[in-house]
Amino acid sequence: MRPQRPKEECGLFAVYGHEDAAKLTYFGLYALQHRGQESAGIVISDGRKVQEHKAMGLVPDIFNEEILNKMKGHVALGHVRYSTTGSSLLINAQPFRIQYLGKSLAIAHNGNLVNSHRIRKELEDRGSIFQTTMDSEIVLHLIAMAMKDGLEKAMLQTMSRVQGAYSMVIMTENRLIAARDPFGFRPLCLGRLNGGYVVASETCALDLVEATYIRDIEPGEILIIHEKGLNSLKTTAPSRKAQCIFELIYFSRPDSSVFGENVYLFRKRQGELMSEEFSVDADLMMPFPDSGNYAAIGYAQASGIPLEMGVIRNHYVGRTFIQPSQTMRDFGVRIKLNPVREILKGKKVLIIEDSIIRGTTTKTRIKTMRQIGASEVHMLVSCPPHRYPCHYGIDFSSKGELIACQKTVDEIRDFIGLDSLGYLSIDNLVKATTIPRSELCLACFDGNYPVAIDEELSKFCLE
Ligand code: SF4
Repeated sequence: MRPQRPKEECGLFAVYGHEDAAKLTYFGLYALQHRGQESAGIVISDGRKVQEHKAMGLVPDIFNEEILNKMKGHVALGHVRYSTTGSSLLINAQPFRIQYLGKSLAIAHNGNLVNSHRIRKELEDRGSIFQTTMDSEIVLHLIAMAMKDGLEKAMLQTMSRVQGAYSMVIMTENRLIAARDPFGFRPLCLGRLNGGYVVASETCALDLVEATYIRDIEPGEILIIHEKGLNSLKTTAPSRKAQCIFELIYFSRPDSSVFGENVYLFRKRQGELMSEEFSVDADLMMPFPDSGNYAAIGYAQASGIPLEMGVIRNHYVGRTFIQPSQTMRDFGVRIKLNPVREILKGKKVLIIEDSIIRGTTTKTRIKTMRQIGASEVHMLVSCPPHRYPCHYGIDFSSKGELIACQKTVDEIRDFIGLDSLGYLSIDNLVKATTIPRSELCLACFDGNYPVAIDEELSKFCLE
């Protein structure tokens, strides 16, 4: 069954030059758990011996004190995964490691390569054998094939072949290599910790391990971290940056800074700009926690409409629970969010949401609001309608999954059962950032894909 909310892609965390590398990586992955909940893993090296541990599930379920104490070394690479290419199976869990000419090579990857199926076919035609259905495995094959000229040249050659969205970290016995695609779709940052280095998808992971943020890995940069320090290489200059705006709207944690932008403040500005764009006659406003929380704060402060927590989130609901029967249909939605009748009854309510992808969960939530007696229910969404699929690593890769592809805004309003519905304009969405429009990917809103898409591309195209 497809998820109702878009899924985060993956989270990366790596450590170089710290004796507690395994435990630090564990905590780093803990901070990045929101980016992937299907599987997690850590590979560690003491310079000679390489060990790994990975499994399906959440970080605290996979690792414990005993496992981490056995993982000795000063170089570590960790990954949390939500599958965007390849099924959710243990064989596809990352980091993915191979042995090549007696050396170990491991990769952790966030994003989607748009030409992976073509490269894989070419490699298979030449006799390559693949163990997984992940696009990340192709990267290791390309590196291994070019390794005779040295790791630096192999990385440059590999990055000139693969296309699409990727932030990745590669680990040998004694080196870490952090790389970002030339468009910079996915975030990746560098930090310093007690003389060592840390690489992470988001700055919230640096904060947790008390590392100091140094800078982002630049789009098109290959940063090699080794015993003598850092060595930065650049791939061919990109024609433009295309940083994923949905990282700021939805994926990244509000306590992170992504693409140089604090996520909390960006979302608050979205709310302020929504109040300039839309004036709604409401007694109170609320988010469905946690989506929309920060845009709601911005809208409330700018509009003067009182902000209430009209629904309460159960923080103890796990990823899976026994599915309710047909006669308890709405139970599945209410177990996570339950409305407070005394706050909402007889009130004109404005809800702030961060996105509507499929619309079915929102519809059920609005029905519940009406059942408990809200007199009017309005909704503002802090981004434009999602009219185009994403092929760069976000889990809405076909038009059929997007309600805004099938319906107009008025039709969506009627389908969901709202009194009114408004979406933030693209101009105001861009205005909420300090990033120029030419340096953002907005393809799921405007259909302008920065990297050409192959029609054959799908999540399962390598299976
Ligand atoms: S299409 Fe949308 S979700 Fe995908 S990378 Fe671009 S902005 Fe992000």
